Amino acid sequence: MTTLDQAPITQLRGIGAKMRDKLARVGIATIQDVLFHLPLRYMDRTRISPIAGLQSNTEVVIEGEIRGTDVVFGRRRSLICKVQDNTGLITLRFFHFTAAQRNNLTSGARIRCYGEVRRGGAGLELYHPEYELLGEQSSKPLAQNLTPVYPASEGLTQYRLRTIAEQALALLNDGNLEELLPAELLSAEGGSSRANIQQQTSLADALRFLHQPPASAAVELLAEGLHPAQQRLALEELLAHHLSLQQLRQQIRQHQGPAFAAHTKLRSALLKHLPFELTGAQQRVCEEIANDIAQPVPMLRLLQGDGGSGKTVVAALASLQAIGSGYQAAVMAPTEILAEQHRLNFEAWFTPLDITVVWLTGKLKGKAREVQLERIANGSAQLIVGTHALFQDDVIFHKLGLTVIDEQHRFGVHQRLALREKGPASEPSHQRSVPHQLIMTATPIPRTLAMSVYADLDFSVIDELPAGRTPVNTVAIADQRRGEVVQRIRGACGEGNQAYWVCTLIEESETLEAQAAEVTASELALLLPELRIGLVHGRLKPKEKIQVMAAFKAGELDLLVATTVIEVGVDVPNASLMVIENPERLGLAQLHQLRGRVGRGSIASHCVLLYSMPLSQRAKERITVMRQTNDGFVIAEKDLALRGPGEVLGTRQTGELNLRIADLERDAHLLEQVKATASALMTHHPNKVAPIIRRWLGNKERYGQV
Ligand code: ADP
Ligand code: MG
Repeated sequence: MTTLDQAPITQLRGIGAKMRDKLARVGIATIQDVLFHLPLRYMDRTRISPIAGLQSNTEVVIEGEIRGTDVVFGRRRSLICKVQDNTGLITLRFFHFTAAQRNNLTSGARIRCYGEVRRGGAGLELYHPEYELLGEQSSKPLAQNLTPVYPASEGLTQYRLRTIAEQALALLNDGNLEELLPAELLSAEGGSSRANIQQQTSLADALRFLHQPPASAAVELLAEGLHPAQQRLALEELLAHHLSLQQLRQQIRQHQGPAFAAHTKLRSALLKHLPFELTGAQQRVCEEIANDIAQPVPMLRLLQGDGGSGKTVVAALASLQAIGSGYQAAVMAPTEILAEQHRLNFEAWFTPLDITVVWLTGKLKGKAREVQLERIANGSAQLIVGTHALFQDDVIFHKLGLTVIDEQHRFGVHQRLALREKGPASEPSHQRSVPHQLIMTATPIPRTLAMSVYADLDFSVIDELPAGRTPVNTVAIADQRRGEVVQRIRGACGEGNQAYWVCTLIEESETLEAQAAEVTASELALLLPELRIGLVHGRLKPKEKIQVMAAFKAGELDLLVATTVIEVGVDVPNASLMVIENPERLGLAQLHQLRGRVGRGSIASHCVLLYSMPLSQRAKERITVMRQTNDGFVIAEKDLALRGPGEVLGTRQTGELNLRIADLERDAHLLEQVKATASALMTHHPNKVAPIIRRWLGNKERYGQV
């Protein structure tokens, strides 16, 4: 007997080539796939509601006799049909209808309708209900189970998906769908009552239950996704994702990585130049990285550290170890401004050590670009700084040994992977070694998210700011008191400090945002004629942006009016005041990032949140959090609680996870168990790994291909 993962859906009744293709588009190829295409929600069609008792916004089944059907011409032409039972009368309304439909809905016929009650022009109405005419037989049986609503797509009706699922369930028996979680693993960890329930629910039972829950099922638990049957599957789904990232990690770590001996001479030469000592936390993470890259296995490490914690110098020390061993190091930034800032830092640090720094950004064209490419390819470039332009196919490294990706939350998993491919071209491809990879982020990632989305990485954390930094003092001031805020700028700049004025995003439009910043800059110029004011926004040419930033950094500007382009990485220690206009438009993580631009020197720094009334409850909560703490990890946890993982990580990254039943936030309590189960599976049941991934993620091997 074939198992269901091997049985194509065309074995089911009524599925020809056309239907097969439609199903393929929602990821269904086998009968097993049908079973794992789980309902989004349920409708209760197990009982008939009396019409008189209907309430708006509820889903109901009604049954009655048609009292009249008419086409009415209002704002929109619609077909209305009055239905009466022995308690009352209700209107069905259809905006799309056929002549046949109209003719079938004849007065006196008995009809059963399924739909949502709404308040409409004629009192309570059902808009576009599903219905069936009952004909002579007066008692057609009602559904025994809750009716599933499936994720659908064009050309796939709920009715069709339901009949397909029913057929698949009928074929399901305990022998043809493999239980991939070994029983001893499920009981090994956790020990919580939840874990026990999950264990008691067999896979087949969980699937049967979720496709056809009995009318008595705990509907509220189901709606929340906390029913044991759902949790049993959520666990397996999270496990599949975790395993797929782990497998990716293993695949990469099967390759050779370049082993770099510690290069004490270069290291101490750099440290001697620095005007500061490394913090304890910097020393610790430097050591973690140094140990990794001394091994002949590619490093995959995420370095987390709040803005201003000093990640750049950590990257520089790692790069020295690579360069000292005759390899190249590449440092990638998400924007031109940051790439330029890194270039300046690395040139200042490395040129005295006789190390050649080159840079490559998307804006570099023609001859200039070719020259840089040539230097990268022939190895005369030792440290390469750039933007995503470093990803492009024509960039060939002579001997790339270390990739540093800064502020990675703007890069997706796939871009991360693309860089892993760029091993030294001098080696034949089959034995090409894979560069070490260091990913740096100033967005602290809550632990639970890190365990799921970055399961392929090791973590290092800089949890200490350099000595002498005074925490930023944050205040919230309503827009009516704008004048006071302008005076504060005058005061701060009058004392020789610098300030930022940040204009936040209006909708998702860079152009509008840039215009707003221009207007603000000219207003401020009128109010503060004695100050030198610069303006930077996303519509400037990269060169102009860089010039403005450089002037601000050099102290040639007192006030920088900016859009959120300055969000990440920008480092001007003399800036001690930041005004964020309309902070209510931004999420916590972004506010925290922005605020991280001040408080980078030893001067007491301030952040003014200049908000407009009225504030939503959410906005108030965010502003309160910002005033209460400067700790990025605390803020990240709050952000997760307020906004959920999609917003915190960027929809793109959680979108890549594409979860069917699990929910990172709701199911965070499962993640420890997922992690333990994954490592036990890989050690003791390696043959189960691929089938679990295939069951949940399909054959695409989504993380494996670039
Ligand atoms: P981030 O972690 O945000 O990338 P940077 O690497 O830009 O931080 O460092 C912020 C500022 O702190 C820079 O001016 C840098 O030179 C300085 N810095 C880094 N480490 C230390 C330290 N240990 N002591 C004092 N200042 C430091
Ligand atoms: Mg940085």
